[in-house]
Amino acid sequence: MIRRVWLKAALSGAAAVLSLLWTGGRLLPRAGAGQGGQEKGAKMIEKIHRTDQEWRSLLTPEQYRILRRKGTERAFTGKYHDFKGQGVYLCAGCDLELFSSRTKFDSGTGWPSFWEPIAPERILERDDRSLFMVRTEVLCARCEGHLGHVFEDGPPPTGLRYCLNSAALKFEAREES
Ligand code: FE
Repeated sequence: MIRRVWLKAALSGAAAVLSLLWTGGRLLPRAGAGQGGQEKGAKMIEKIHRTDQEWRSLLTPEQYRILRRKGTERAFTGKYHDFKGQGVYLCAGCDLELFSSRTKFDSGTGWPSFWEPIAPERILERDDRSLFMVRTEVLCARCEGHLGHVFEDGPPPTGLRYCLNSAALKFEAREES
């Protein structure tokens, strides 16, 4: 029994070292991120489904490229990376309230960064192994639009950095309550 536990610990340790090597120790995927369709919060928000043609007509070309084609805006070019208004950030695809200005911080990366969503069920997280990296993709839970990625090098209290595209968001000014 003890031997089995030790073996399990050794194996998971080896897996952690391997994944660290794989990512170069830089872009750490979040533990517990969705794998193979298992998604945190996937069942809690009612989905919005639209055809590709509908999305094309509803979104600007830049919004479409990012939200529906998982694109990324160039650093320091988006309208919210250096924006400090008080309010909420909605999904640009379906208007779901996703992030509050109270959790926004200056990451210096050139993309709007937050340490926490308004509610965990409003976003989905999925493993993203594109571009020879292991990252955790962040999507809107309602329309499944691509928002950006989350990393574990953010500030307290969560230590997370939700690194998002300005074009995937829509800011609405709100009074602080
Ligand atoms: Fe959405």
